[in-house]
This record gives sequence, C-alpha cells and structure tokens, in this order.
Amino acid sequence: MSDGLDDKFDAHFFLELFEGKNRLDKALKKSRNITNKIKRKHDPRQRFNRWRDSSSGKAWKRKKYEQQGKCCAICGCFIPLKYSHIDHIQPLSKAPELACTLENLQITCADCNERKGDRT
Ligand SMILES: [Zn+2]
Repeated sequence: MSDGLDDKFDAHFFLELFEGKNRLDKALKKSRNITNKIKRKHDPRQRFNRWRDSSSGKAWKRKKYEQQGKCCAICGCFIPLKYSHIDHIQPLSKAPELACTLENLQITCADCNERKGDRT
C-alpha cells in the first residue's frame, strides 16, 4: 500500500468517526430532552402545584381550612382563605414522595410557611 492510499483511508475513517460522533450527540441530546420531560412531569414540586391548582386541590384546601377553624396549623392565628398556604408537614425536600399526600398537608399562614421554608 502506498502512502497515498493510507491517507485516503485515514481521511475516510475520520470522516466516518466524525459523522458517527454527530449522530451520537444528536441521539444523546434527544434522550436528555426526553429525560427532562419525564423529570418535570414527576418533579414533586410541579406535581404538587398541578394538584393545588386543580379543582380537587382547591376544594380540599377550602375544606381543610374550614376544618382547622380558619386558623394556621402552626401558630393558630386566624388567616383569611386567600392568604392561607398549603404546607407540607414533612417538607418536599425530605419527603418528595409525600408531595400530594393529604395526611402530609396542612393550612398555615404565610409567615409560618415561609419560616419553615427557610429551614428546609
Ligand atoms: Zn402561622
């Protein structure tokens, strides 16, 4: 084999390698996008927000608010419904699987909810 043929072979080989890498990059990017989509769908915070904004979430909040006597579950102060927060007793950061578990939810005032948020 002459040097000329070797050069031709090498060039072809690297071109194939380069194209292969591009295809691989594209496939990886696509799979990363799919992974992110799945993660977003199952992200506990987003799962909770979807539930909270749904009609069943809103109905639950009103009911729980009445059950607690329109008071904060932590400090006991009266809260107008529109200023009440849904608080995770076991914080989302520690128990993401309880994001939408009703037993893990309580109504609190904004102050208590934010104070808790700082700790977690
Ligand atoms: Zn409070």
